[in-house]
Amino acid sequence: MDMGIAGKRALVCAASKGLGRGCAEALAAEGVDLVINARGAEALEATANAIRSAHGVRVDTVAADITTEAGRADVLAACTQIDILVTNAGGPPPGLWSDWERDDFIKALDANMLTPIALMKALLPGMITRGWGRVVNITSGSVKAPIPQLGLSNSARAGLTGYVAGTSRQVAGKGVIINNLLPGIHDTDRAIALDTAQAKAGGMTLAQARAQREASIPAQRYGTAAEFGAACAFLCSQHAGFIVGQNLLLDGGAVNATL
Ligand code: NAP
Repeated sequence: MDMGIAGKRALVCAASKGLGRGCAEALAAEGVDLVINARGAEALEATANAIRSAHGVRVDTVAADITTEAGRADVLAACTQIDILVTNAGGPPPGLWSDWERDDFIKALDANMLTPIALMKALLPGMITRGWGRVVNITSGSVKAPIPQLGLSNSARAGLTGYVAGTSRQVAGKGVIINNLLPGIHDTDRAIALDTAQAKAGGMTLAQARAQREASIPAQRYGTAAEFGAACAFLCSQHAGFIVGQNLLLDGGAVNATL
């Protein structure tokens, strides 16, 4: 299926690795020019080179922390006429409900709620003026079913979800479509970090922790960044114009719910 977005320009945040990279690659495969971001310049440049040589699109890079005001200013300065925005950043650390103080919540809110909101606020006006835009926020399955050890993520991402529910309906009439993608467990560095924490907590090897988590998923495996990217490219496509303010769960069936 032709996604109809060749020649569009996308900003994909936190995209040197993992799910962000999967989204950047899938958009590039559709002929979308990219601005990609991550903090570490070396991995970012390596990813940009790989995407340029695989897909022949323009890829600009900005090494910056997207969760800071200064980092966002650097990234936005490199952006002209962005049609597609994919928001993403690292997830908050695991812990217990009783561990977190106000500053921990402020940090999580900054990274996983206020940063995507700031990026949308900066880029939606241009999309509205041009009459076309797509935004995909990478959130988490924790929005549908809370993950006990990820209370900071449960909280911050729920706040973003509420903002998107209201905002998406205010801009859809202008041709600007906002949706959220909710990853369950995917095979990325983040999954390895969470496996490692689970192995430590349960006195298991890393392989045992992974096998235990895989067994909890009806698909019996972790998702891949390529599968995730393909879903993102569809939500950014011409075909997604009637999908507004939705939360698409990509979790191999892990959340056991009818709706
Ligand atoms: P990942 O494999 O660890 O990749 C994270 C990417 O984001 C890297 O490119 C990293 O590069 C970049 N990054 C991290 N913090 C950043 C920041 N402050 N500013 C700019 N770039 C930043 O993680 P992932 O698995 O793709 O996860 C992406 C998001 O999905 C996270 O929020 C995670 O919590 C969420 N999620 C993941 C899963 C999963 O199973 N993988 C499940 C549910 C939710 P640098 O470190 O160089 O900045």
